[in-house]
Amino acid sequence: MLDYTKIKKELSLDSLVVHGYQGHDPYTGSVSFPIYQTSTYLNPGLNSDIEYSYTRCSNPTRSELENTIALLEGGEAGFAFATGLAAVLASFSLMSAGDHVLMSDDIYGGTYRLIELIWKRYKVEFDYVDVGDLESVKAGIKPNTKMIFIETPTNPMMKVADIAAISKIAKEHGALLAVDNTFLTPYFQKPIELGADIVIHSGTKYLAGHHDTMAGLLVVNSKKLADKMTLIIKTEGSGLSPLDSWLVLRGIKTLALRMKRHEENAIKVANWLKQNKNVEKIYFVGLPEHPSYEVSKRQSTGFGGMISFTLKDVTKVEKVLCGCKMIMFAESLGGTESLITYPMTQTHASIPKAIRDKIGITDKLLRLSVGVEDADDIINDLASVLD
Ligand SMILES: *Cc1c(COP(=O)(O)O)cnc(C)c1O
Repeated sequence: MLDYTKIKKELSLDSLVVHGYQGHDPYTGSVSFPIYQTSTYLNPGLNSDIEYSYTRCSNPTRSELENTIALLEGGEAGFAFATGLAAVLASFSLMSAGDHVLMSDDIYGGTYRLIELIWKRYKVEFDYVDVGDLESVKAGIKPNTKMIFIETPTNPMMKVADIAAISKIAKEHGALLAVDNTFLTPYFQKPIELGADIVIHSGTKYLAGHHDTMAGLLVVNSKKLADKMTLIIKTEGSGLSPLDSWLVLRGIKTLALRMKRHEENAIKVANWLKQNKNVEKIYFVGLPEHPSYEVSKRQSTGFGGMISFTLKDVTKVEKVLCGCKMIMFAESLGGTESLITYPMTQTHASIPKAIRDKIGITDKLLRLSVGVEDADDIINDLASVLD
């Protein structure tokens, strides 16, 4: 469990991301936390109570990352997984046959595939609701609802859910609230402070931040959930490797710098897109005309760097995706480089067309992960394919 007594509580988030939990190696003083590249550990004696016995169960580099994310999210304990989807899966592993889970209707395509192609065979029920509408959330609750699982802002439609209000509904019905916080990171949004029980991240995105590693993170707000999750991660064997744990730790050191820059750039790019005659509609939570701008301002300290937008003319899609000189046409998001994706055929291809159309994931929708380059270079690149 996280020992908060060790932590300099007076540090701001900007310093905490740099220093992490322990920050340095307690044995050698190494300022860079070491990569404990080992599968097993010397046992000092019969019946000795050792913290580390086998890396599937725990590893010091992974523990440092787990404690760091728990610290940043303000939770009881953190867990680091091989991928974001492995972290989502671990949250589902808290469910049993007969339980019901209420999901955001606009979720990451991989999470949808995990439910539809795998978890629906396990006699756990899943329903999807528009979590931007609290009445639909209330109406979606069943006597066996054990978890509400939301993403906010959603991927790719940037819908915002009111975390505190949904947490109240979940608590009234004895259900857990899990929040996928990938888009904003704890730097801009802390779901546990707003009442969530579980926070999930694709660490592959902003936390690692350089498009060079895969990771998933999960933070829980209670000792009871921490004990269950400790059993799940060691038994499912989905923990993150020491090297990848180190890469995510290194990424987190610049999280504050990067998130501020991503956001600053995204605001400039969104305002530029807004006046472009070839752009039909913009989905960015940082624009005052976004329907949930006020909710965002209340529950988050920033808007992040993700923008989706539709083009007026579908025939321009290919040029925008493939014609940029700097912005890359590639899946994923949250790294230093700006990436543009086509949700319909990439991230959300697993979602049936009828549902995609209903949500708004059409053939004219593009998603831009605004990187940390010079904003003018991003805008000039877009202008060269849009104008
Ligand atoms: C990418 C992503 C995931 C899945 O994470 P992986 O690291 O790719 O497994 C889950 N949720 C959201 C919001 C994502 O963007």
